[in-house]
Amino acid sequence: MNLAPKYFFKEDLDWIKEKRPFLFFDFDGTLVPIQNDPSSCWPDKKIKAYLKKILSSKLAHIAILSGRSLKDIKKRINIKGIYYSGNHGLEIIGPDLIFIHPEVKPAVKFIKRAKQVISRNISHIPGVLLEDKHLSFTMHFRMADKEGKKLAKSIFKHVLSREFYNIPFKVLKGKEVIELAPFIDWDKGRAVHLILKNVPEGYMPIYIGDDLTDETAFSALNNQGLTIRIGRSKKTSARYYLKNQHEIYDFFKKICAIIEK
Ligand SMILES: [Mg+2]
Repeated sequence: MNLAPKYFFKEDLDWIKEKRPFLFFDFDGTLVPIQNDPSSCWPDKKIKAYLKKILSSKLAHIAILSGRSLKDIKKRINIKGIYYSGNHGLEIIGPDLIFIHPEVKPAVKFIKRAKQVISRNISHIPGVLLEDKHLSFTMHFRMADKEGKKLAKSIFKHVLSREFYNIPFKVLKGKEVIELAPFIDWDKGRAVHLILKNVPEGYMPIYIGDDLTDETAFSALNNQGLTIRIGRSKKTSARYYLKNQHEIYDFFKKICAIIEK
């Protein structure tokens, strides 16, 4: 059973400064508010200034792990020295690290084919869009009405069970999105451990995220790090929570104050 997470700002976390933090962030819903159109999410100046400040202190590392493609997430942050990971950990790039999961390549052609078929079948539904992430794709239906959402989800399911029943895929459900990814035993939690192996021992991982895919990282880190969920929930493995995405600014403020002490 999960323990109810505690409110992050109620904790005395000064002890963090004894260790060097390695900060792991999810992107959508964590560093930026979730928006109807995923292509319009960009980090604001304050967020970028905090990230740069922490990096330049040389006392901490930063990684950003997103469900977006690596190319997309890198473009949106565009700061050197950060570890970036796309497709929920399947691809990673950072200081002295380039990784793409070896099992990805054979799966991609099936992903592409499934995307084409689903795309053709949902094109008439207003407010539903497909995001091509190269190794996977995401169907967004936040902007669709109730009927549209229902229809889009059933088409997604239908296409997979009728035309791709013999292909193993991973179906990931998120906030008003559904995603088709290669069937590989890999997730953000594994990616976090792989990135941690790339730096000297002694870093204290701090992971912040808001969605289901972040739960793998919360579980993977709970014995050695600080895990924080955006939004209070009992159904999480994270030990701490922030009330909402906007509190990420207070989080940065607090971390900077601790590092600078
Ligand atoms: Mg998120």
